Amino acid sequence: MSADGGKPRQPAPETFTAQALGRVDARTGALVPALHTSTTFERDADGGYSTGRGYIRPHNPTHDEPAELLARLENGSDCLLFASGMAAATAVFQSLFPGDHVLVSRVMYWALRKWLIDFALPWGLQVEFVDACDTAAVARAVRPGRTRLIWIETPANPTWEVTDIAAVAAIARDAGARLAVDSTVATPVLTRPLELGADLVVHSATKYLNGHSDVLAGAVVCRERDGFWQRLRACHRDGGAVLGSFEAWLLLRGMRTLFVRVRHASDSALTIARRLEGHRAVAQVLYPGLQSHRGHGTARRQMDGGFGGMLSVRVHGGQAAAMAVAARVQVFKRATSLGGVESLIEHRASIEGPASPVPADLLRLSIGLENLEDLHADLEQALTYADNTAVETAFALQATEDRGAENVPGNVTTQAIARVTRDMVAPVVLERGGVIRVQGFADGVLTLSLEGSPAAAVPIAQTLATLYRHHVPAVREVRLAGGTPAAQHNDAGADDDESRVRRVIDERINPAVAAHGGRIVLDAVREGSVYLRMEGRCQGCAMAEVTLRQGIEPMLREAWPDMLALVDTTDHPSGSDPFFKTRKGPA
Ligand code: PLP
Repeated sequence: MSADGGKPRQPAPETFTAQALGRVDARTGALVPALHTSTTFERDADGGYSTGRGYIRPHNPTHDEPAELLARLENGSDCLLFASGMAAATAVFQSLFPGDHVLVSRVMYWALRKWLIDFALPWGLQVEFVDACDTAAVARAVRPGRTRLIWIETPANPTWEVTDIAAVAAIARDAGARLAVDSTVATPVLTRPLELGADLVVHSATKYLNGHSDVLAGAVVCRERDGFWQRLRACHRDGGAVLGSFEAWLLLRGMRTLFVRVRHASDSALTIARRLEGHRAVAQVLYPGLQSHRGHGTARRQMDGGFGGMLSVRVHGGQAAAMAVAARVQVFKRATSLGGVESLIEHRASIEGPASPVPADLLRLSIGLENLEDLHADLEQALTYADNTAVETAFALQATEDRGAENVPGNVTTQAIARVTRDMVAPVVLERGGVIRVQGFADGVLTLSLEGSPAAAVPIAQTLATLYRHHVPAVREVRLAGGTPAAQHNDAGADDDESRVRRVIDERINPAVAAHGGRIVLDAVREGSVYLRMEGRCQGCAMAEVTLRQGIEPMLREAWPDMLALVDTTDHPSGSDPFFKTRKGPA
């Protein structure tokens, strides 16, 4: 009871978090919940499960407190704990259906972007990247009735772009889509996306929630236990990427100090960001707490009590200078990850690899709990050292690189296309047995020519198109050999299903397949299914099934979303490929 005899005072989040919900073990009196490793639980004599637990994968008792605590902190109705943040994030996408359209923020954790391109796209999700900080762009890109999910990360790796959650939630709601927010960096201490209208919140609990760099974990919290949540639960239970018992136990231990850790890290990060902003070795400081940051206004409205412990610094002198700074630090640790008690510094572009869009001069800092002046002095000496010694070398290197870029004919866009082709597209296609070249670029249409097997590029045409569009905004459409649109957004108006299918085969598929000396023949369109046959070199080709399932089928489905099945009527020479299970066509 409160002092005035009214309603009992509800404990504040800091209180129930510090006490990990404050339960006392009824049998032992322990204040710390037990760690259960049992995999199985006794069934009742009548075969029932009156304890509500049958097997540990869906019913791990050590998940109870951390999941409930996180759901309460996020103001959600349920929470699932996964084996990693990636397992949590990918489960959300896996709970959709092939053909569903999803809008994803352009700036985001790189491994998830890579997974979306490498796995979700070939699996059939229509993934489209958008500048989520530009609410008008999100409104333009959303397809009412077709977009099933909008995915944002805020603040987002590694430039800490801030998305207006409430505005995007309204767009999602109007379009009949769900909004999922990766809130790893903000944590529920600073932002509660469900209160702003989001449907799902996702965390890499590896980071701030655990906070001690000793656990790999992920979580999804929902606003409502609706049908989608039941599907996500099934994905968690049946897919099996669940959090282990010890990790769940450690996670709860770490979460008890969440509020003090996040607030301390945010305060230190703000001070460091302000001090570095004027440093002569620094070209730009990226931190949502700075007025100079693009997302500052939104961050002020939607972040509560701080701007987080993550910031990035772009140094003068390019990659060499950035590497020199990272090499020189003594208090900061050179390591990937974030949100731990110790401060980390990381050269992001080299971690992410050649496909990374992150500038080569960017260093990502995760501010921990060390003494603020120790951290600042460490950065100061490293930046000054780099400024005095390595920068000249760096400028020399940069100048050489720039001269190299000038050798590529054309303007900035064609140079960017050349770079994406050389660094990202050509190696992948080569590995799959083909050679890709840029044939031309005009009016936003990029035409590529393919030599070798069509399976080298046709099955991944969507992925390639997404790569170009993502890295070169001027590219609207990508065509493969002879005017083949590899990915278009328009559902090219056609009168009936058969002519739509025929047009895709004639205009998009056959020009690419022709480069391989093959041909696709439409046998019939009957009772919702397409029957087609391969001729020429496609017949008996070891990659024919791949081309069919990963390349041709998604293209046809794009033109005819209700297509029931694609039936291969080719009389493939028996034994040409052990994977062939030819389904004979119409009798
Ligand atoms: N989301 C964000 C914002 C991240 O930074 C990370 C990892 O760095 C992940 C998701 C993936 O989490 P995990 O490494 O736990 O799989």
